[in-house]
Amino acid sequence: MDAGNTGISGGCQTAKLLMDEYVQLVRHVASIRAQIMTALQHEEPTDGLERLVHTAERTKQHAKDAFLTHVQKHGCLLTPLRSSLTD
Ligand SMILES: [Zn+2]
Repeated sequence: MDAGNTGISGGCQTAKLLMDEYVQLVRHVASIRAQIMTALQHEEPTDGLERLVHTAERTKQHAKDAFLTHVQKHGCLLTPLRSSLTD
């Protein structure tokens, strides 16, 4: 499959992309949660936001699964990635 990617400049690009995507979704969920908190403080309805956070949570879970599945199959678990992050 995509084995052989690991030598490319500072680790597995696929793992890095999947990780970036996951991190972005974590931030996305956090920002919706912050909006819910603000709405609650202003006693505004949160139904729409609750639905939004639900969908975002599911997408986030899928991204996490995709990342974990990739590193398990590919065997590229973050060692090269971590060293590329400290550059
Ligand atoms: Zn990989």
